[in-house]
Amino acid sequence: MSLLIKSGLVVTSTGSYKSDVFVKDGKIAEVGNSLSAEYEKIAEEVVDASGKYVLPGAIDPHTHIDMPFMGTKSTDDFLTGTVAAACGGITSLIDFEVLGKGVTIKSAIEAKKLLAEGKAVIDYGFHPCITEVNDTILEEIKDAIEVYGTPSFKLFMTYSFRADDYTLIKVLEKAKECGGLVQLHAENHSMMQIMHERFEKQGKLEPYYHAMSRPNIVEEEAIQRAIYFAEFTDSQLYIVHLSSMEGLNRIVQARAKGLRVYSETCPQYLLLEDSCYKKPNWEGAKYVMSPPLRTSESNEALWKGIASGDIQTIGSDHCPFNFHGMKHMFGNGDYKKIPNGAPGIETTLMLMHSEGVVKGGISLEKMVEVTSTNVARMFGIKNKGEIAVGKDADIVVFDPKQKFTISCKKLHMNVDYNPYEGMEVTGMPYMVFSRGKKVAQWNNDCVEFVGKAGAGKFMKRMPFEAF
Ligand SMILES: [Zn+2]
Repeated sequence: MSLLIKSGLVVTSTGSYKSDVFVKDGKIAEVGNSLSAEYEKIAEEVVDASGKYVLPGAIDPHTHIDMPFMGTKSTDDFLTGTVAAACGGITSLIDFEVLGKGVTIKSAIEAKKLLAEGKAVIDYGFHPCITEVNDTILEEIKDAIEVYGTPSFKLFMTYSFRADDYTLIKVLEKAKECGGLVQLHAENHSMMQIMHERFEKQGKLEPYYHAMSRPNIVEEEAIQRAIYFAEFTDSQLYIVHLSSMEGLNRIVQARAKGLRVYSETCPQYLLLEDSCYKKPNWEGAKYVMSPPLRTSESNEALWKGIASGDIQTIGSDHCPFNFHGMKHMFGNGDYKKIPNGAPGIETTLMLMHSEGVVKGGISLEKMVEVTSTNVARMFGIKNKGEIAVGKDADIVVFDPKQKFTISCKKLHMNVDYNPYEGMEVTGMPYMVFSRGKKVAQWNNDCVEFVGKAGAGKFMKRMPFEAF
């Protein structure tokens, strides 16, 4: 199997240059200026990428596929979810698995693998979510890092399965000892609970109060507390789905002190605002996710945080629930019962390009860094994240001029609405390759899937290395 991608602009996190890329047996075999003459005759497929970008496939570090939550289940399984990912230029993802009481990390990961095997069309990995500590789990963290290939662990500071401070400190300590990375959903549970009680008494139950019950300080407090624990244990910490300017400021301060505190944000926290919750006919429920959408002040601060390097990665937090039958609640429910989450895996790259690069907030190289290169480094995916010899040929040939109007009907996520419905973006994937095999391509007015169910493989990841 061989492939020549010729005359494209190869983009890396450190620079861009016009070059040809030759792929053999799923790996990038050569990158250079005049490969065409030599390889054009022998390559089984030749792609003319002139006028297009050649990007390392995006890696989504934050998805919730096939996940039971709030009395229902996210609507994408590993087939529909990864087909959507591939069509959006995502060539691998890391999903979460929440450990039930008394369940070992190994059995949870093995069970999750069964959901993905035979379905996933791109490569995938898992982050175990730790909900309690005991000697068995603490011992097993070492194996998870060294043997299972799952060196990152998520903990939640809210929800029924939240970890208390003791749990958090113990896991941070263990992660430091063995080369793991703790990822944290940072929201103060008690502050929210008090807000819920207040709104309940006042009969304020509409989607807008979802945001009002989780003001920025709820995230800021939890982030700062976690930073103290990271300092106390001298461990590394990664804040997932950072949403607020205040939270970012705490992270910037911690990093200035030399602490190994990292963060991820999502397109929705860069682009959408809390006014979305006021949409009529209960449509605000479409945007109910945690943390909630903020204001333009936070949007702008987060763009700057990406540009400055204080935010290292972009995840989608893809967690789709239908509006009809799930989030809608017959237009007369309680915001606390709306399933939390929104679809996003397919739109990350197009939004980061159109709203970030085209509008000038971030460079093309920065987009590649936060959507791919840094994600691979952060989560120990050694063979991906760059267009370089020896890496997996996970490649997006990207057409920077192609216009597309975001619409639920033209996307592949298994959900009945899109938070960006009707928005026009500039720049779309033209062809997407997973380990050298074409999985998606632009066709007329949208991207079509051309890959194979089950072609994706489990990625065994390496221990965390600070950067
Ligand atoms: Zn999430």
